[in-house]
Amino acid sequence: MIDLLAVCAHPDDLEVCASGIFAKAKKEGYKTGLVIFTRGESGGYARQDVREKEAEEAAKILELDYFVMLDFPDAGVYFEKSAVDALIPHLRNCSPRYVLTLLEEDYHPDHVAVSKITKAACFTAGLKKYSQDDMDWHYEAILYFGADNKRNKRRPDIYVDITDVIDIKKKSCEAHRSQKVLPYAMNLAEEYGRAAGVKYAEGLFLS
Ligand SMILES: [Zn+2]
Repeated sequence: MIDLLAVCAHPDDLEVCASGIFAKAKKEGYKTGLVIFTRGESGGYARQDVREKEAEEAAKILELDYFVMLDFPDAGVYFEKSAVDALIPHLRNCSPRYVLTLLEEDYHPDHVAVSKITKAACFTAGLKKYSQDDMDWHYEAILYFGADNKRNKRRPDIYVDITDVIDIKKKSCEAHRSQKVLPYAMNLAEEYGRAAGVKYAEGLFLS
């Protein structure tokens, strides 16, 4: 069983938005996992194999217990049955207590789609009728993180102090060297830190 499962659109989404929370959970003995819908072949000038390697490196830094990259096209993920069906087996495999995914208000259409897909898959995967096994599974909560705090004016409902794991967050962001996400991720962690009265924080939304 996985305690915290993230469902993301692109290889660097988790690292930018919530890698501190995942590093912290790991440090406290919880099991963590990540499902990524695309292999990030449309981000910047990086090739797909480069982004796959970067994602694998970041997954090792975060010591994820479950890590899967699906084969949906980057900039081509839609809220459709095939996408919901692709996620359900991973939800059943992991039986996560908490599912974390992208915020529907994010700028990238893939983020919007993955948010909707995850909500639908969490519901459907919990139905006995659709399960491949006898296991009962119901998540405790779906929580959301945003990768676009400039355009999205909503502010998180929960702040998590990640000061003690900031070095792990930095390393996981640096692993995505083709995308150069570290400055943005650090600015966000500092901004949320100021809001929370700590040095570095990450934010979660309840809906
Ligand atoms: Zn993304």
